[in-house]
Amino acid sequence: MSQAISPAAPLAEVYDLAVIGGGINGVGIAADAAGRGLSVFLCEQHDLAAHTSSASSKLIHGGLRYLEHGELRLVREALAEREVLLAKAPHLVHPLRFVLPHRPHLRPAWLIRAGLFLYDHLGRRERLPASQALRFGADSPLRAEIRRGFAYSDCAVDDARLVVLNAVAAREQGAHIHPRTRCVSARRRKGLWHLHLERADGSLYSVRARVLVNAAGPWVARLFEEVLKQPSPCPLRLVQGSHLLVPRLYPGDEAYILQNEDRRIVFVIPYLQHFSLIGTTDRDFQGDPARVWISEEEIDYLLQVVNAHFRKQTSRADIRHSFSGVRPLGDEQTGDPAALSRDYRLVLDAAGGEAPLLSVFGGKLTTYRKLAEAALELLAPSFPGLRPAWTAQTPLPGGEQLEDPRQLAESLCQRHPWLPAELALRWAQAYGSRCWRLLEGVGREEDLGEHLGGGLYAREVDYLCHEEWAREAEDILWRRSKLGLFLDAEQQARLRRYLAGERAQRARLRIV
Ligand SMILES: Cc1cc2nc3c(=O)[nH]c(=O)nc-3n(C[C@H](O)[C@H](O)[C@H](O)COP(=O)(O)OP(=O)(O)OC[C@H]3O[C@@H](n4cnc5c(N)ncnc54)[C@H](O)[C@@H]3O)c2cc1C
Repeated sequence: MSQAISPAAPLAEVYDLAVIGGGINGVGIAADAAGRGLSVFLCEQHDLAAHTSSASSKLIHGGLRYLEHGELRLVREALAEREVLLAKAPHLVHPLRFVLPHRPHLRPAWLIRAGLFLYDHLGRRERLPASQALRFGADSPLRAEIRRGFAYSDCAVDDARLVVLNAVAAREQGAHIHPRTRCVSARRRKGLWHLHLERADGSLYSVRARVLVNAAGPWVARLFEEVLKQPSPCPLRLVQGSHLLVPRLYPGDEAYILQNEDRRIVFVIPYLQHFSLIGTTDRDFQGDPARVWISEEEIDYLLQVVNAHFRKQTSRADIRHSFSGVRPLGDEQTGDPAALSRDYRLVLDAAGGEAPLLSVFGGKLTTYRKLAEAALELLAPSFPGLRPAWTAQTPLPGGEQLEDPRQLAESLCQRHPWLPAELALRWAQAYGSRCWRLLEGVGREEDLGEHLGGGLYAREVDYLCHEEWAREAEDILWRRSKLGLFLDAEQQARLRRYLAGERAQRARLRIV
């Protein structure tokens, strides 16, 4: 396999664009800008997708409940993005049918039907089926008193891989991507931005750029105060949302959208074949967004909503995993964090001929590509000759020549009859057509190297380190895959030993 990532790659004298933040919005902007011919530098203080962008509900959705809040612009844009992203990344994004049970405390059925009609028609919809009314029979997993409901379509996504593959796309367009690199200060001097950066080993270096993008997600305001040393232009409210993973609550492929009596909604989503993903909550958050965990109240809340709807009762003993993330939302001074807008705001500061600073406030995974396009449109006056928008029609890495990852998995097994079907499917859904690279020169199972457990072989670990910036076990277990749910403690320790051994060997050979 080639040595794709070389931090020693020569740095451009002055970058056109420096992006702070390796979540979905930072990598989305970096990829778009690099593909339009700009030289791009991106730094991420931890791993790519280490924070909000790997702690989402993993939906590419219009946001049915945002209709209630009158957010038509956001819903229209998000609905249309479902079809764009389905085509762009069929390995990561798949259609998901949602069931909305109708209970007496909800709005009248005719009003919900009208809302779903709007949802069906507001954005372009080619592959996703329209909504319908449902009557539940004896085989329904819902409690017996819930007899009616509705079904509609949205999509599910592997959120962390969406980030990593956008970073790969950016690199393939020439961007320099630097995870584990914190921007400690950024100052304007003589029409340029001067950034000081600190690597994980404590070493420091600097880069210069014509334009700076603050895509620090929940740190966006803190970056203003601590790194840029100026006040944030937008008031921000940090809102924590948490999820639980429990063994699958029902056998079907559909997800459920449950509206609680407090009018908040909770999704129950089939996840990785064996689990149901339950979330989310909304509560104000103070503190360091890197240190966020589910609270006892959130666990009680999510279990209570699920148990009020499903026959199968779920208790704390069923919880296999939980995770939390922090949304940076515009502070409209409203009491209910669930009612705050999920739309994004881009703020450009280019006053007095100064080097421009563009800051991202809010946003959703679903709209990252449109957000990036809007960012580039705002920056266009700084870059005469900027090439036009390109990301809508171009597949993400692995989405090339791919329609259906299940068919790809079958082709992989035909070409490599020794390959376990489960592994072929996991790879097809993670790497898409890049699986063929993963299997280059591999003729039998032994060629995959040491089996570290749970279907993870040394070959895949090497690929993730060389091609996708993985370094620590957590990068592999929880972001580039979710194998952390399937490898036991001893197997995870074996992965750590393997990575440490590889690093030592690379250091000996002076490969960085
Ligand atoms: C509970 C929850 C559920 C959600 N569900 C959905 C959903 O189903 N669908 C959907 O579309 N959206 C969803 N969202 C919204 C979506 O997850 C976020 O809008 C998106 O992930 C934000 O991405 P980001 O790049 O702005 O922030 P982040 O992913 O947090 O990235 C910002 C990055 O900046 C880095 N950074 C900060 N300071 C520095 C510095 N000084 N130097 C270098 N790097 C720095 C951070 O380490 C961080 O990784 C959800 C959000 C939450 C919280």
